[in-house]
Amino acid sequence: MNTQKLSINKAVIALTTIIVLFSVASLIVLYFLTDNVTAVLCGLIYVVFVMLCVIVFVIIMRRKLVLFSETFCELLDSMMIGEMDLPQAAEEETLFYKIYHRLARLYEIMCENRYSVAKERTELQELISDISHQVKTPIANLKMIDATLLEQSVSEEKRIDFLKAMGGQIDKLDFLMQAMIKTSRLEAGVISLDKKKQPIYDTLAAALGGILLNAEKKDIQVTVSCPEAWEVSHDRKWTSEALFNILDNAVKYTPAGGRVNVSVALWEMYMKIDIADTGRGIVENHQGAIFKRFYREEEVHDIDGIGIGLYLTHEIITMQGGYIKISSEVGKGSIFSIFLPRD
Ligand code: ADP
Repeated sequence: MNTQKLSINKAVIALTTIIVLFSVASLIVLYFLTDNVTAVLCGLIYVVFVMLCVIVFVIIMRRKLVLFSETFCELLDSMMIGEMDLPQAAEEETLFYKIYHRLARLYEIMCENRYSVAKERTELQELISDISHQVKTPIANLKMIDATLLEQSVSEEKRIDFLKAMGGQIDKLDFLMQAMIKTSRLEAGVISLDKKKQPIYDTLAAALGGILLNAEKKDIQVTVSCPEAWEVSHDRKWTSEALFNILDNAVKYTPAGGRVNVSVALWEMYMKIDIADTGRGIVENHQGAIFKRFYREEEVHDIDGIGIGLYLTHEIITMQGGYIKISSEVGKGSIFSIFLPRD
């Protein structure tokens, strides 16, 4: 028999019929066995009483079931429109309470998913508008130079200047695209960091290699204090990129003749790498913002940059379980402290 197709009403009717038939048969058998009408009457009263109890029980159960299904449907409806208001179930351990509890959990998970999808969409929109904003200026410049070179006859000297300017804008676009590809691949988890316990000295040396020429050009003295043997678990390539970004800024935002000092210290839980400069410094209320994508202070608009270096650095360090702290005084300099866990 297919019990799934059997409705509760039909099941109750069938059961009642079976009980009634069985009781009538039992009473008839009782009458033939005892020939005692009183015994049969008592039996009949007993059967009627049991039947009444069963009917009352079924009515109560049915009402409860109807009530439960209505509440359940209301809950599902409100879940679908995203306005779930969980009713208070009286007894904590009832079946209703257990279902409510699981529904509430399911609803929370649905809300979290909905929220993270909305957040991802907003972030994507922000990213697209950030990129289009960043790309606009170099492309407008390239178009303008191109039009000038095509429409006007310019001297050889001017032509070279224009071509150099074009090269600068192309470099900017290239740098922007490279940085974007790196950050999006890091964020999407396409790139997994290969953390190994290894000396930080070599990683620092690789980062310093990229800034020495610029430091020399600006007559900036770079000093490093780091024992060669000190090890910490990190990804060499990406950590070196993060350190380079901070060192590059230190040189970029420090006037000629200044100093950049790198020092490493071992703490109980972390390795601390300080990169200190004697540059322009960062006002306190900008210190949180400088790690945002494409954030640049108004005051540095005459210095080359697109505002992505520190964002990338922050991603790389936090992905390795570390963090970055800044202490800075305007006009005196800044110290960027990188903390890498010693696990
Ligand atoms: P970019 O250098 O390309 O502008 P970054 O993300 O590396 O982008 O830095 C963001 C901003 O933080 C810079 O534009 C600058 O205003 C500020 N900044 C970063 N490092 C320093 C520093 N060492 N000294 C002063 N300002 C800094």
